[in-house]
Amino acid sequence: MLSYAEAHKLIVNSIQPLESVNLPLPDILNHVLFESIIAPFELPQFDNSAVDGFGVLVEDLKCAESSSPVELKLVASLEAGTKTDGNKCPISRGQCIKILTGAPVPAGVEAVIMKEHTNFEKRTDIGLFFKSVSPQENIRRRGEELKKGDCVVRANTLVNPPIVGVLASFGYENFKVYRQPRIAILTTGDELVQPGITLAQNQIYNSNSFAIEAACKSLGLNETIRLHGNDTREDTIQKLEQAIKFADIIICTGGVSVGDRDLVKPVLEEDFKVETVLWRIAIKPGKPVYFGRKEKKYFFGLPGNPVSALVTFHLFVKPSLLKLQGLSPLEPSVQKASLDRRIKKKAGRMEFVRGIQKRTKDDTLKVEPTRGQESHMLSGLAFANCLIHFGIEEQILEENSQVEIQNLDWQSY
Ligand code: AMP
Ligand code: MG
Repeated sequence: MLSYAEAHKLIVNSIQPLESVNLPLPDILNHVLFESIIAPFELPQFDNSAVDGFGVLVEDLKCAESSSPVELKLVASLEAGTKTDGNKCPISRGQCIKILTGAPVPAGVEAVIMKEHTNFEKRTDIGLFFKSVSPQENIRRRGEELKKGDCVVRANTLVNPPIVGVLASFGYENFKVYRQPRIAILTTGDELVQPGITLAQNQIYNSNSFAIEAACKSLGLNETIRLHGNDTREDTIQKLEQAIKFADIIICTGGVSVGDRDLVKPVLEEDFKVETVLWRIAIKPGKPVYFGRKEKKYFFGLPGNPVSALVTFHLFVKPSLLKLQGLSPLEPSVQKASLDRRIKKKAGRMEFVRGIQKRTKDDTLKVEPTRGQESHMLSGLAFANCLIHFGIEEQILEENSQVEIQNLDWQSY
């Protein structure tokens, strides 16, 4: 059986990123840029004030102190967005100009002093200045953030809210981004019923359908459909046809093990001629995971148990979804933590033990396995924030030993 690392590599290497699409600025959040964005002009475009205050000549305030303020005459005022004329300095010795935050600082004005260090209470045209200033103080210099032609954001970067802001501040309206994958979630099982319908004897509610869709949406991927198939060959074929029509990636849950009613793999292989890349991995939860592809479509068969479905989604589907969008998912990073309870298992499979990591007051990272580790106990996963790696051949992890943990975060990988 393949190891976790081998399976991860095989899956990620099988996937080719999708093509690009053009999207307007308000829609690019959570998409990956297809091209690098180059600054069309420098930023800031003009010298401007970082504070509400007064533009001055440094020499005028050389001796200003709170006990012996200097008087300056107010000759003009500039607000954000005001037009200024050319290179003429608007003040001479003994004068100042009111400048609000973001307003241009005209040539020749040497510094801006904060309003808080001045007093115009007695007269509106003569102010008292209580502090000296250094050259350029409180002036945001033209081009100090980015020069024309600088790379603002590299291709293959995931767009987050500040990136949206940076791109907007250059006035760009349309962007080439990787298309986001369309995702079909196909749950299987005769025993499953949609929430809202009364359960008959021995039926259970379909939770995977919603949990897996929610896991996609947590990654900012909203083009999903949910389908459900009964455990018959005909229905499995019919629902897969619908799934394939819609999606780039088809995530099946249930029906991938070795039971009589586990039809997903044989139907994919025999009826749809999907090429099997792998089936079965030496991990727990998630031994029966299936992955196949046909042309540009990808097929996952995840185990039906709700914990197994979500954990294997995190381990294998998430990096695949990232790669489809133009990101390069590396192997997940692991860190060391001190295990606060002894745990045991049999040798033969690597286990991903759901854990809660916490930093203690003395700055050590501790991890506690959650209660309810069985694959059908979804509540144990709900509060977990990491997976403890319990190696294939290991059988005991001792209390207080240093173990490897992998982050479990539904918004990222
Ligand atoms: P299977 O992999 O189809 O043998 O299912 C394994 C276990 O997971 C069984 O107990 C199923 O009832 C349960 N199961 C399968 N699919 C779902 C689902 N969509 N929602 C909740 N439980 C499920
Ligand atoms: Mg089943």
